[in-house]
Amino acid sequence: MGKVTGFLEFERLHEAAEQPQERLKHWREFVHHLTDEAAGIQGARCMDCGTPFCMSGCPVNNIIPDWNDLVFRQDWQRALDTLHSTNNFPEFTGRVCPAPCEAACTLNINNDPVGIKSIEHAIIDKGWEAGWIVPQPPAKKTGKRVAVIGSGPSGLACAQQLARAGHDVVVFEKADRAGGLLRYGIPDFKMEKHLIDRRVEQMHAEGVEFCTGQHVGGNLAMQKLLDEFDAVVMAGGAEQPRDLPVPGRELQGVHFAMEFLPQQNKVVAGDQVSGQIKATGKHVIVIGGGDTGSDCVGTSNRHGAASVTQFELLPQPPEKENKPLVWPYWPVKLRTSSSHEEGCQRDWSVATKRFEGRNGKVEKLVAARVEWKDGRMQEIPDSEFTLKADLVLLAMGFLGPVPTGLLEQAGVEKDGRGNVKADTENYRTSVNRLFAAGDMRRGQSLVVWAIREGRQCARAVDEFLTGSSELPR
Ligand SMILES: Cc1cc2nc3c(=O)[nH]c(=O)nc-3n(C[C@H](O)[C@H](O)[C@H](O)COP(=O)(O)OP(=O)(O)OC[C@H]3O[C@@H](n4cnc5c(N)ncnc54)[C@H](O)[C@@H]3O)c2cc1C
Ligand code: SF4
Repeated sequence: MGKVTGFLEFERLHEAAEQPQERLKHWREFVHHLTDEAAGIQGARCMDCGTPFCMSGCPVNNIIPDWNDLVFRQDWQRALDTLHSTNNFPEFTGRVCPAPCEAACTLNINNDPVGIKSIEHAIIDKGWEAGWIVPQPPAKKTGKRVAVIGSGPSGLACAQQLARAGHDVVVFEKADRAGGLLRYGIPDFKMEKHLIDRRVEQMHAEGVEFCTGQHVGGNLAMQKLLDEFDAVVMAGGAEQPRDLPVPGRELQGVHFAMEFLPQQNKVVAGDQVSGQIKATGKHVIVIGGGDTGSDCVGTSNRHGAASVTQFELLPQPPEKENKPLVWPYWPVKLRTSSSHEEGCQRDWSVATKRFEGRNGKVEKLVAARVEWKDGRMQEIPDSEFTLKADLVLLAMGFLGPVPTGLLEQAGVEKDGRGNVKADTENYRTSVNRLFAAGDMRRGQSLVVWAIREGRQCARAVDEFLTGSSELPR
C-alpha cells in the first residue's frame, strides 16, 4: 500500500472527456486517460484492504491492489507486467468494461470506489506509447495445430495464449476484419479500431495466422477443420438477435441494432456502404435499454437525428443502490452512458404494441405503459400512446449463437438456453477435440468475460494436447 492515508486525502478523479457538442462532430474516442501524476494519486486511494474484493469482482481477476501500488510509485513497467499477467487486452477493457471491480471495491462501501478502470486505461496506454509491448513468440513449438473460429475478444485471447504456449494457431473469421463485436458492434467513439489492428499485428508476429472471410459452416466445412487440426475452438459469439414480432415489424425503417451499428463502423474504416441506414433528420426510437441500445443512441446523434427516444420494458431502476444490501455485487441502478448525455429521451415500463406506416415505410410506433407485479408484466388500461418514428432500432439483446451453419455441422449438444454446452473446467463440447468459449458458450455477456473464457479455454486445450499446461487459468 503506497500511501496509508491516500483514501482519506484524495477524491476520486474522473477521466477528462470532450463536451457532448464537440464530440458529436466526430467518431473518435473522446475520453482521455489520466496523466501519470493523476493516475499515481488515484492509485494512492487504494487501501490494500487485505481481502481484495475488487479482484473477485473482476472476471479476469486482475491483480488490482498490486498495480494500484505500482502506479502510485510510478513503476509503470512492473504495473504493465502485472496487468498483462491476467489480461491479454487491457486496452479493450480499460475503455469498454463496465468495471464490476469498482462495484466490489471496499472503498465503495461508504465512499467513491477507486477509479480502477481509469488506472488500467492509463497503464496500458502508457505501455503502448512507451513501446514496451512487443511480440512474445514461444521459446519452442509443440507441433500441434489449433483452429480458432471467431476473432472476438474470446477467440483472440484464446489464440494468443495458445500461440505463446507453442502451438500453431489459425483464426478463422467470417467477417472481412478481425475483432468480433469489438470491430463491428462497439462504435469507434467508445473504442477506436486501430487498437485491434495493433494487437492483431502483435499476434501475427507471435505466429498466429488470421484467415478472414472464412465462414465455418458456410464457405468452409467444419469437418475440414476437424480433419486438419488437432483441436478446434468455437468462439463465434451469440449473434442471434431477439426480435419483436408485433404488427408492422416488416415495415421499412425497422431494423435490428446490429444491421445499423456495423455499417457505421465500416464507414469509419473507409469502406463504401451502399444504402447505409442513416438516422440523419429522423425521429429515432431505440427499443432496449442496454449497451447496444446506448450505442444506437450515440450513433444516431452523430448522424444528426431529429430526436432520439429509448424505451425499456423494465421499470426505471433506482438512482442509487442500497450499498449495505448489495455490496460487493453488481448493483441494479440507473446507468447513464456518455451517449445518453449527448441527448436522448429515456422512458421505462413501455411495451411496443405495433408499428404503423404508409407506402411500406414506418411512420409511427404505438406503445403502452406496463406495470410489473411479482415479476409479471401487465399492461396499464388506457395507457396507449403513439410516437412519430422514422427509424426504429431493435436492441433487445441476443438469444444465443446462430443455430444453423456452424452449430448444425458441428453437431454439438446445447444447454437449455441454446448455447453450446461445455463447462468452465475443460471447455470441451460433446464432440471430441472441439471446444467452446465466450458468448457462444455463456450467452451474451461482456468483453472481459470473453477474455477470461478465451484464456481459460486455451489452458484447457493446451492440457488436452500436451498432458499439462503452464498457462494461467
Ligand atoms: C453493440 C454492442 C455493444 C457492446 N458493448 C459492450 C461494452 O461496451 N462493454 C462490454 O464489455 N461488452 C459489450 N458488448 C458485449 C461484447 O461485445 C461481447 O460480450 C463480446 O464481444 C463477446 O466476445 P466473443 O469473442 O465471445 O464473441 P464476438 O465478439 O461476438 O465475436 C465472435 C466472432 O466470431 C465470428 N463468427 C461467428 N460465427 C462464425 C463462423 N461460423 N465462422 C467464422 N467466424 C464466425 C463473428 O463474425 C465474430 O467476429 C457489446 C455488444 C454489442 C452487440
Ligand atoms: S477488466 Fe473490468 S472488472 Fe477487471 S479491473 Fe479492468 S475494469 Fe475492472
